[in-house]
Amino acid sequence: MKYDYPQELPVSAAHDEIVAAIESSQVVIISGQTGSGKTTQIPKMLLEMGRGDHGHQIVHTQPRRIAARTVAERLCSEMGVTLGREIGYQVRFTDESSPGTRLRIVTDGILLAQIQRDPMLSRYDTVIIDEAHERSLNIDFLLGYLTALLPRRRDLKLIITSATIDSQKFRDHFAHALHATVPVVEVSGRTWPVQIVYEPPDAPPALMMRVPGLPDAIGSEGSDPLDMPASVVRACAELVIHSGHDSGPRDILVFASGERDIHDFESALRRHFGPRASDMRRPDALEIMPLFARMSAKDQHRVFESHSHQRIIIATNVAETSLTVPGIRYVVDPGTARISRYSKTAKVQRLPIEPISQASADQRSGRCGRVADGIAIRLYSSEDYETRPRFTDPEILRTSLGAVVLHMLSVGVARTTEDVTNFGFIDPPDVRSVSDGFNELSELGAISRRRGEATLTAIGRQLARLPIDVRLGRMVIEAAHRTTPNTLACVLVVVAFLSLQDPRERPEEKREEADRLHNRYADPTSDFLTALNLWDTVFPRDAEPSNSALRRLCRDEYLSFLRLRQWHDLVAQLRGMCRELHFRVATPAISRPGEDVLALPADHQAAHSLCRAWDAEGIHRSMLAGLLSMIGMQTIHQPKASDTAGLRGAARARALKRAAKMAKNDYQAPEAPISRYFPPQAWPETLPHG
Ligand code: ADP
Ligand code: MG
Repeated sequence: MKYDYPQELPVSAAHDEIVAAIESSQVVIISGQTGSGKTTQIPKMLLEMGRGDHGHQIVHTQPRRIAARTVAERLCSEMGVTLGREIGYQVRFTDESSPGTRLRIVTDGILLAQIQRDPMLSRYDTVIIDEAHERSLNIDFLLGYLTALLPRRRDLKLIITSATIDSQKFRDHFAHALHATVPVVEVSGRTWPVQIVYEPPDAPPALMMRVPGLPDAIGSEGSDPLDMPASVVRACAELVIHSGHDSGPRDILVFASGERDIHDFESALRRHFGPRASDMRRPDALEIMPLFARMSAKDQHRVFESHSHQRIIIATNVAETSLTVPGIRYVVDPGTARISRYSKTAKVQRLPIEPISQASADQRSGRCGRVADGIAIRLYSSEDYETRPRFTDPEILRTSLGAVVLHMLSVGVARTTEDVTNFGFIDPPDVRSVSDGFNELSELGAISRRRGEATLTAIGRQLARLPIDVRLGRMVIEAAHRTTPNTLACVLVVVAFLSLQDPRERPEEKREEADRLHNRYADPTSDFLTALNLWDTVFPRDAEPSNSALRRLCRDEYLSFLRLRQWHDLVAQLRGMCRELHFRVATPAISRPGEDVLALPADHQAAHSLCRAWDAEGIHRSMLAGLLSMIGMQTIHQPKASDTAGLRGAARARALKRAAKMAKNDYQAPEAPISRYFPPQAWPETLPHG
């Protein structure tokens, strides 16, 4: 069977070279710009070569659910077949395939889970790891696992596709491990020049002299300089005006760091453009469309359909390399992304929103040079761009080894330190940090070890399902097991607080005033309780105030609007996860009936008496469960043997010894908040800091 290959795609032009490389080698690397046809055309070549037949399948992994489905649908429509027959896809909770399926598009988490049941991957004859440049933990696990599997499965072919020039690293790794030549096929297409415009919020518009109806600089006229939606609106407004002079495609792609940002950008844009954005019969209609994973398939489809009016598409990172939205001429890049963390199921978003690397920024701006010359507006300064790292580190180098080991144990690919160090990682972690990782898990009661072999305990299995730092996760589990639902709710608030940057701001010139205001809810004995006081002040009975009320509050109280909102989001996410694990969480989390918004305690004393309403003891004991090896100096509660109840054996003995020593030497009611001794910055790298 011969398939059609769209002529304009560079991958189509490299058809013969790609087929020859796959015929002759077990591992082939294909790299090329986004949109060159790697994802959609290579599977057809493999099918044509007769792979994915005779009881075997081709498996094609995608980092994201939305991409897995879209790619499957796109392939079906190009080949004129029905989804779920020859071409299937599988993501968590959905399996659209049949016994006759030859090509199965899955999320990488699904393939990892299959390794547990079928270690030889015997149902497949070909594996395509798509978007390998992302170097998520899942991708690194898969590539590492395949490194060991390929010599034992000489019939299994591995195709790695990558968007960047980082392909040499993959080649060297596999050539060395397999003692074989690994061809790299570079497919590069024609692109058009892209004009890069730097437009930080506090600077005047860069493309226009003035944008009608908008302030010159976002920070002026009393608005928040960090008001990203306002900056997005301004950039889009400029581009819409500018595009009046351009012919050809005129659609705008706006990058957002998550669903929440998408929502905020969308409503700000709708407010600005008014009826233009709602009445599609107008000649100057402007259609505003979000694109994210949880949207219905039908809504996602519409983004790819042809249209005559101008569009603004607001998308998550998925539009950076995985999906190509046709007709994009302009890009608006706020410069941040939720840099995702590992999760066992590849389902849960990782937490922190971080500045993106230069490579990502270039990739984003490149999205508008595919059909004609484009313009990319970066909502940050060129100096900011220059200080950013060239590439995003592979996730394995950003994650605590405790989490990596836990993940490997839960997937069933490792039991010992050697298993981890000898695993075929492209960037292997060093032996010491691996054994630290094991020790950390032991201390947290997540694994038990016999003769060097580790197995997950019940706690460990629960921990593996919480996509947060293992220590923080341990606190949550402890709270769930030994205290009331209200205490768990409080612990979630504190854990989220510790995961993000402190929302309290201390501007240089207003330091004293800020401190005075912040002291009103500072608990003299514990930073944890201070965090709860703050939460209760800003989000009384958990309700999130309107954006404008919250903004006002932030201005008056020297708090960061963005961080407070991240905090609220994170608490909501953690609650969702607890519910999935069947932990009972009280909502609203913290209820002190009768308190009104901004009913701040007048002084320390008042704050102290307020927090008595909470189960401070239970909260602190839960925190302690995650901190055993870190309570070096002081703690709020004198540790008791019962604090180590979740621990067994050597870990328990160590913890008891430490507690005893501490009680003897150091213990006293601390004068200063605990953060003095144990500032969040001193926590392991891997804490999901905001
Ligand atoms: P790559 O994987 O190299 O980034 P793709 O195979 O995803 O490239 O896309 C190749 C081309 O196919 C894109 O340039 C785009 O024009 C088109 N395309 C891909 N997916 C879709 C889709 N779902 N709808 C419409 N066009 C698509
Ligand atoms: Mg692709």
